[in-house]
Order: sequence, then C-alpha cells, then structure tokens
Amino acid sequence: MQIYIDGDFYPESEAKVSVFDHGLLYGDGVFEGIRFYKGRVFRLEEHISRLYKSASAIHLKIPLERKTLTAALLETIRRNELRDGYIRLVVTRGKGNLGLSPEHCPKPTVIIIAAKITLYPEESYQKGLKVVTCATRRIAHGALSPMVKSLNYLNNIMAKIEATHAGAGEGLMLNEQGLVSECTGDNIFIVSEGIIRTPPISSGALAGVTRAVAIQIADELGIEVSESEMTRYDIYTAEECFLTGTAAEIIPAVELDRRPIGDGKPGPVTRRLMERFHELTESEGTTIF
Ligand code: PMP
Repeated sequence: MQIYIDGDFYPESEAKVSVFDHGLLYGDGVFEGIRFYKGRVFRLEEHISRLYKSASAIHLKIPLERKTLTAALLETIRRNELRDGYIRLVVTRGKGNLGLSPEHCPKPTVIIIAAKITLYPEESYQKGLKVVTCATRRIAHGALSPMVKSLNYLNNIMAKIEATHAGAGEGLMLNEQGLVSECTGDNIFIVSEGIIRTPPISSGALAGVTRAVAIQIADELGIEVSESEMTRYDIYTAEECFLTGTAAEIIPAVELDRRPIGDGKPGPVTRRLMERFHELTESEGTTIF
C-alpha cells in the first residue's frame, strides 16, 4: 500500500505523522471518505468542496489548491493499482506543541489513503439493518457545526458502541431537542404516505453526499422529497426506511428499537433507489486512469 503524506508516498509501515500533530493530540482537522467504482471516482467534486468548506469553517487553510489535491488523490489510487475502493482524505492542523493554540502549527498535514472497502455484509442489503436509538446525542450547532466533517467523532463513536452492544447494525442519533438527526455514519430517510422524508441539515445531520444523490434519484423518479423535522414516531410508523452514506451506499433499515418498520422487509421504493444508485456509480465519475 502506498500512502500519500504531504507530497510524498510511503509504504504503510513508514507512513507516519508526528506525535505533536494536533490531529492526533486534539482531533483538530477535517476529513472525507470517497468511493471509486470501476476506475471512476464517484462525486469527487462534491467531496472536495465539502472538505474545503469544513476546513474553512474551522479556520484551517488547506496548503494545496483544489486541482493539486485532486491530482494527488487520483495519483494515490493509481499507485495502489485499484479500480474499486475507498479513499480517506485527511487534513490535520499539523505539527505544533502541546498547547491548544493552532498558531504554533505552521503547516497542515495532508494524508491520502486508498484502500479496499468492507461494506455491511450482503445479507444486510437483502434483509435490511436493525437500528436502535442511542442515548448519545448528535453534536449541537452551538458546540460545533454538525456540517463540519471534523476529526472529532467521539460522540458518534460512543453512539456506535451503544448500537453494537445492542446488537444493531446502526445507531440512530437525536439532536438536543430529541428530533431525529442521522445515524452514526449515515443519513436517514423514511417513506411515508408515498413521500420520501429526511431530517433537514438543521436537525444536526451531516450534509451527506450520498443523501444528495438519493434526493436527486427520487426527483428523477418523480417521488416527492420533504426535508422536514422528524421524531422517532415518524420512523416507527413509516412504510420504509433506508440509510445513505459513502461506505454504506443506500441500505434498507427494517427495524427501529425492536419495532418493525412497515412489514419489516426492505420496501419497493428503497429497492428502486438502490438499483438506480448502482447504475449511477457505474456510469459516472471522474476517470482515474
Ligand atoms: N453522517 C455522518 C456522521 C457521517 O460520518 C457520514 C459519512 N460517513 C454520513 C452522514 C454520510 O455522508 P456521505 O454520504 O457524504 O458519506
């Protein structure tokens, strides 16, 4: 495996950053997870845009122009001779001292890792995921904008542990008001009375790239999409539920807190969206080779 760090490539055993990097010391940085399919990177522009926005929101200047960063990302995939996989793009505040202040971190660290991806098992796509509500809340707007895809994932990790301990595939996260926000690493949608609904970003969800693709597909198929505040009641009583994320793609959710959603099986709207999603991943994207 060849890993990009600040302009050079290193084998995995030599790909290291300083213990004084504020990404490690404080979770001070931003990241993206990006997929490529059959030699093409899916929604690359959208991911790069979100990365630059996340960085600018935390007052972090990415030391590369967009074009240069994109070229480095494509070169990382080429060097690893992969046609299908996942990219982790990380920009940290860089090496500083033990103090909090970023003023002692002159140069952000840029890391690009290209890897194969392990999805949920195929069975989860066929039968659907079980989801439980987690006690850990999604980060509040007043603490740090949930729009920022930062290296601070601790509350999502706490929620993921809760979900795993409960034997569920994903954990539902609510915001401080108790409204549905998203899952630990995926956005959430329901189908109810013929309409697709998803919580608005203002409920504390990350503006998922796959979320936007699901909305685009629904528009194409002529299905109305409503971004409206939602409580768990809406999910308990929905006909269908599905989750979206770069790693998960579109995956059915068939149970929340032990209550079956609809008839407890992946529904027709979810299946139609999954099918169209796969068509898109195989027919568009930025060419790598
Ligand atoms: N919410 C959270 C908290 C995430 O970390 C992610 C990405 N894994 C998503 C939603 C889905 O976003 P995307 O579709 O851009 O991967």
